[in-house]
Amino acid sequence: MGTIQALRGTRDILPEEIVYWQRVEATAREILARATYTEIRTPTFEETALFERGIGEATDVVGKEMYTFLDKGERCITLRPEGTAGVVRAFIEHGLFAQGGVQRLWYTGPMFRYERPGAGRQRQFHQIGVEVLGSPDPRADAEVIAIASNILQSLGLKDLQLDLNSLGKREDRQQYRQALVDYLTPYKEELDPDSQDRLTRNPLRILDSKSDRTQEIAKDAPSILDYLGAESKRHFERVQQLLSDLGISYRINPRLVRGLDYYSHTAFEFISDNLGSQATVCGGGRYDGLVAELGGPETPAVGWAIGLERLVILLQQIQEKPQPSLDFYVVSRGDAAEAQALILAQKLRQSGFSVELDLSGSAFKKQFARADKSGAVACLILGDEEAANKTVKLKWMATKEQEAIAQTDLLAKTDELRREIDSLKTQK
Ligand code: ATP
Ligand code: MG
Repeated sequence: MGTIQALRGTRDILPEEIVYWQRVEATAREILARATYTEIRTPTFEETALFERGIGEATDVVGKEMYTFLDKGERCITLRPEGTAGVVRAFIEHGLFAQGGVQRLWYTGPMFRYERPGAGRQRQFHQIGVEVLGSPDPRADAEVIAIASNILQSLGLKDLQLDLNSLGKREDRQQYRQALVDYLTPYKEELDPDSQDRLTRNPLRILDSKSDRTQEIAKDAPSILDYLGAESKRHFERVQQLLSDLGISYRINPRLVRGLDYYSHTAFEFISDNLGSQATVCGGGRYDGLVAELGGPETPAVGWAIGLERLVILLQQIQEKPQPSLDFYVVSRGDAAEAQALILAQKLRQSGFSVELDLSGSAFKKQFARADKSGAVACLILGDEEAANKTVKLKWMATKEQEAIAQTDLLAKTDELRREIDSLKTQK
């Protein structure tokens, strides 16, 4: 029997790469907290019906991509393909709307779609997303876009393109849908097979096709923007005005439709030139109909999701690998010294220092070589002599200066050590 490997479309995020993920998460967390968004954690699997109703049966996600199975109790269950449906279910189930006003929520976690894997496309992937529930105000649309932009910029991604569109209200869209079908029908035989299929089920999605010929045909299709009613137009113009006021540049893209059924009014995507065909890093929009669709009270809402794998690919292209910063590397040899080193390391960790303890038991020379490589600001050395005297050698790695000090004295002057280490770190 061969060894077992990770399933196709899943991957391990190894220590080498995790630093990028942690940077993304920390940045997003901080920006979202400042904007008073609170985190919500919902289950990874839900009743299949939630996604069928919440995303729409005519979408690719529900039609082809869901991980659906019967559990041992014969319940039909799906691994969540996206975050919004679960958040909205929780919002309704726990009566979060009863608190009145606006709910600003965010989430992060794995999502599952049965797709053909490739660069930036997996079967288990991760998103960070936000949902603002309870506001029809175009300022909510502008706020979520501004926050996405803020997160992406703070990570150093300055050259992303923001595409913006309006899908109007349901009534606007129905008229547009008919116009689009009328335009496309004569070309039916020339469309790619998926698009032919969508002509009856979900014609708007044809605009999003990756096939060149379909794109060429779609270029001259009627524009949704010509079908917006007065209210939709007003909303869209206000969003554009607010984005300009915020200094956020965007491009109107009337062919931007987004995959999910429940969008209305604003739709947007942040797109990169450096991701090949999987170019969208963040997608979102307004979904005023969804809460009511899932059995809650009429609640306008707007949100987005960032695909973290794609974001990390971009960060790896532009950023040096963030280095973890280590305060102490502890080297020891001999039974008594090794035991004391462990205790010293623990005490320093409890005092707030980052400390790596060499567990190898190998010769001092080898341990010193690892201390050099570790990037630690200082090295602590314990041998038989130090163990007998309850002292430790403190060696500053930058200057190689070294002093012997009683272990109790070292632990008594942690404030002084902190200041010294911090100042050495800033010099680095
Ligand atoms: P795409 O057109 O690339 O399939 P989508 O419209 O299906 O995207 P959304 O449902 O809007 O994607 O999800 C938001 C973001 O999540 C995407 O912009 C992308 O960054 C990421 N994403 C979606 N599907 C995958 C996947 N299979 N693997 C990795 N990331 C994904
Ligand atoms: Mg997709």
